[in-house]
Amino acid sequence: MKFDLNRLVRENVRELKPYSSARDEYISDGSKMVFIDANESPYSNGINRYPDPQQRQLKTLLAKTFSLSPANILLGNGSDEVLDLIFRAFCEPHKDNIITMPPTYGMYKVLAGINAIENREVLLTESFELDVDKILESKNSNTKVIFLCSPNNPTGNSFSGIHIENLLNNFQGLIVIDEAYIDFATKSSWLNRFDQFPNLIVTRTFSKAYGMAGLRLGVCYASEDIITILNRIKPPYNVNELTQRKALQMIQNTALLEEQITEILAERDRMIRQLAEINYINKIYPTDANFILVKVDDADKRYKEILESGVVVRNRSTQPLCDNTLRFTIGTPKENETLLKILNSL
Ligand SMILES: *Cc1c(COP(=O)(O)O)cnc(C)c1O
Repeated sequence: MKFDLNRLVRENVRELKPYSSARDEYISDGSKMVFIDANESPYSNGINRYPDPQQRQLKTLLAKTFSLSPANILLGNGSDEVLDLIFRAFCEPHKDNIITMPPTYGMYKVLAGINAIENREVLLTESFELDVDKILESKNSNTKVIFLCSPNNPTGNSFSGIHIENLLNNFQGLIVIDEAYIDFATKSSWLNRFDQFPNLIVTRTFSKAYGMAGLRLGVCYASEDIITILNRIKPPYNVNELTQRKALQMIQNTALLEEQITEILAERDRMIRQLAEINYINKIYPTDANFILVKVDDADKRYKEILESGVVVRNRSTQPLCDNTLRFTIGTPKENETLLKILNSL
């Protein structure tokens, strides 16, 4: 069966004409033109103009960085907005379904609920790997999207490339690979595989390695055809002026980014060695991300003890396959030392 994108698009979206904003036609980029077209305030303060709805400068920079075209990129107010746009473009409420693989990032399920889309859950295997046969068995003709997170939150591992490729080849809907943690991973990204896999969407975020969680900037990379559809439904000014400007500035400081990632990876290795010495930590799961999932003797008790010592970690015990697990984000060397001291004193 051939991949047919048009079949996947919601009917109302297929027909939709996007809102054409004043700034879609002309952006006020410091040129000598007089802009009295958008009912903005004329008094310059750095943010009196609407931002570029197509975020041209940012996309050009990202496209260059990843050897793509700006037409392969959609930006959103955090990757949460990007994920929501995917639901709203492709999933018909009360009719379509998606597949997710718990334990994983909670937002896919929440967004399915908000959009009235059935969420079919296929558990990861005991070793937190994709169960490709079960995933393919659970789809039907209304399955529009499979969401997979690699490296996966909260388990930390990346999925086997062969399994992912198998899914891409055998599913005629969309496959979203959430690469929020890819900058910490040894496994390679799926970013440059759109020609080979027309059903592939890769999402990324500036909230983790890039250090801009407060900025709210998420990215969707996909074929031009998919991006064109998402652009049709995105709010015109979804990425504000301050975010665009700050991100442009920070993305160009690649030396700092690389230095921070190197330190986090070194700290991660050190933490793994130190955590292995603690007798109530029964298992340290392999990680390709900036956090470590561990299994302890009694997660609720340990969580409370750590909290009372002034450190907030994440208790993931309510997630399937994650009984008695805690998730530790890698902090600064000093913060990590604080956690280790507490853990060693319990
Ligand atoms: C943290 C995280 C994100 C980030 O979402 P933003 O809305 O961009 O901050 C996305 N996906 C996963 C799996 C995450 O853990």
